[in-house]
Amino acid sequence: MIEKVECKSKDCTAMILPSTAERTGGICMQCKQKAERLEHEKYVLENRKVVDAIMTEYFEIIPGESIGPFKLGMTREQIEELDIRPRLDLNKERTVYPLVDIDVKEIKRGGFPNPGVHVYYDTSGTCHELEAIFLYDLSPPVFTLCGYVTNGMLGCEVNSILRSIASDVDEAWIYSPSAGIRAGKWELGIDEPIMSITVMPKEEKTSHAG
Ligand SMILES: [Zn+2]
Repeated sequence: MIEKVECKSKDCTAMILPSTAERTGGICMQCKQKAERLEHEKYVLENRKVVDAIMTEYFEIIPGESIGPFKLGMTREQIEELDIRPRLDLNKERTVYPLVDIDVKEIKRGGFPNPGVHVYYDTSGTCHELEAIFLYDLSPPVFTLCGYVTNGMLGCEVNSILRSIASDVDEAWIYSPSAGIRAGKWELGIDEPIMSITVMPKEEKTSHAG
């Protein structure tokens, strides 16, 4: 049997396989993710002078409806008429509007998503889903949800906002079909910050009663 070793991080007692330790420099995957996040946060802080140039106001996230000027049900033409730049057409189904300009080269190399809005189109070219990407608390703030800046929001905080507007909140997924909203996490765990919010059409609750 392979002897596990303890994660080298201070205050972490996770036991890891020697093969993992070799890949990560002796720390567990959770600590590695955290270290990468902190490193990127530091990068954002040091390079944020070019940031904030594009945004002049927050984009409010309205569950089941819209993110700032982007509205579910809009056609591709209507969204392009908003004239929000820069615009990156990834494919027919997805267009990205990066709302802050940190350093595109760095973002591409590291694979980190840029804070912004992802617009998803169906085959008829109608927007059926919107995703606000904002990452973590040190990213340039771009979005608000029910009046609160989303950067650094914890999953449990979003759940309590959702519970105040909907009765079908799935707390593990931070998701309410009837309100038309789902949050995405950077790491597992409800007490971790969320990094994105998806807005989708409100689902009618089907009644099985009677
Ligand atoms: Zn660890």
